[in-house]
Amino acid sequence: MMPHELNQLGLDARQREQNWQWIGDQIERYWCDVASLPVAPALDLLPLRRELEAFDFAAPQPPLEALRCALAGLRSNQVHTPHPRYFGLFNPAPTAMGVVADALVAAFNPQIAAWSHNPFAAEVERHLIRTFGIAFGYPPASVDGVFTSGGAEANHTALLCALTQKIPAFGRDGAAAAKQLPAIFVGALGHDSVLKAARMCGIGTRSVHAVPVDGALRMTPAALEQAFAAISPAQPVLVVATAGSTSAGVVDDLQGLGELAHRYQAWFHVDAAWGGFAALLPELRPWVAGLERADSITFDAHKSLSVPMGAGMFLTRHPDILERTFRVGADYMPRDGDGASMAQPDPFAHSMQWSRRFIGLKLFLSLAVAGWPGYLAALRHQCAMGDLLRQQAPARGWTVANATPLPLVLLQDATAAHSPAALDAVVRAVVESGAAWISTVRWRSPQGEQSAIRACITNYRTQPEDIDALFTALDQARSPRPFAHA
Ligand SMILES: *Cc1c(COP(=O)(O)O)cnc(C)c1O
Repeated sequence: MMPHELNQLGLDARQREQNWQWIGDQIERYWCDVASLPVAPALDLLPLRRELEAFDFAAPQPPLEALRCALAGLRSNQVHTPHPRYFGLFNPAPTAMGVVADALVAAFNPQIAAWSHNPFAAEVERHLIRTFGIAFGYPPASVDGVFTSGGAEANHTALLCALTQKIPAFGRDGAAAAKQLPAIFVGALGHDSVLKAARMCGIGTRSVHAVPVDGALRMTPAALEQAFAAISPAQPVLVVATAGSTSAGVVDDLQGLGELAHRYQAWFHVDAAWGGFAALLPELRPWVAGLERADSITFDAHKSLSVPMGAGMFLTRHPDILERTFRVGADYMPRDGDGASMAQPDPFAHSMQWSRRFIGLKLFLSLAVAGWPGYLAALRHQCAMGDLLRQQAPARGWTVANATPLPLVLLQDATAAHSPAALDAVVRAVVESGAAWISTVRWRSPQGEQSAIRACITNYRTQPEDIDALFTALDQARSPRPFAHA
């Protein structure tokens, strides 16, 4: 028998069973009652800090007591992204299979740096990368890619691959190898993770050129060509087009931008972190035509495919580029595919991360259980809820400011002259009421500075009554009744 103190990490069988039973019950309770919670509880920092400072870790605590504290903290201190009236950033209600997959992965704790340490994990991810690469239109023989923590890491990977491909000796000499300043082009509504990536690659944010969007909020080939002309003599290294912009859900002209990028010998990356799901639905596929031309694609399974965070993907049609970008010698690592009948590349020589979590299982199990029919039905349902929001907007006194079939709607007040400050106030009142979570976005268009309320369907459990509740909350926020709280 192990002395009690030595077994505090593993616990005993009875405690483990209690943990599972209790946490299973609590997760189920959250699943069932999340819709009745305020979407965004009041966040109060000082009591939270005080509560945590009480933990000096001097005396061990019973497991259930510690778990109770964590559960209470999570329940009362988060914007409830799994809530059906969270109309927010691309954070989903997680799939049921995704939640158990993450627990299973934690228990086995596979090492995904070396292929031979867990061929099942490595091959599950390879299979998914191929499945999605082919679904996005890549030729099966050339699909490659890697799971990432999220879209930001995938975009960072894209920039590193572009620099490696376009600047000989970049891997060895870094930015100093460039004869001309490397230039990156991204639409003005593209994701700011591209700026971070430029910093982290040592080429600086000055190398990132924001291409103005047109009246439909898209980056067009004409605007890109102008931007190319304006920067010479810098070398266009990377063009990032967006399929489903974070603020407006709009898809750039992928076909035209891809052609132009290639004409200028730049790497063409499509950031489809959220909107990539359009390629999976035959009726939306034309909106992302040209996706298959991309040298690489960012896609987040933890957005439209509703698996728990973080589950990003970097996909490429250049099967050698990840190795060229990331392989370094490491004598202490097991050799590629040790013990396998065929040599297999090791994930650590193929990605930004070294040891990492088995990210793919939550997608694999979610997809295995729902099948494509289940997933397509969920995606279609979310699009239908977006359509409903769009269709009802005029009758509820709102103008829709963006054109996209994806379930992200920008609302402007049709009944009053609205200032950005007035929209902010409406959003604040809705969020403080706990009835829904929405946000505001601002952008520069050919018509000048614009702002709108952003409402996105991110939850496969959102229903028509939730859309109605959002409009009601907006009505109340717009014309506050002075005695509402009496
Ligand atoms: C969310 C998002 C990102 C960043 O992805 P993370 O998963 O948050 O790292 C990048 N690009 C776009 C278009 C996004 O919507």
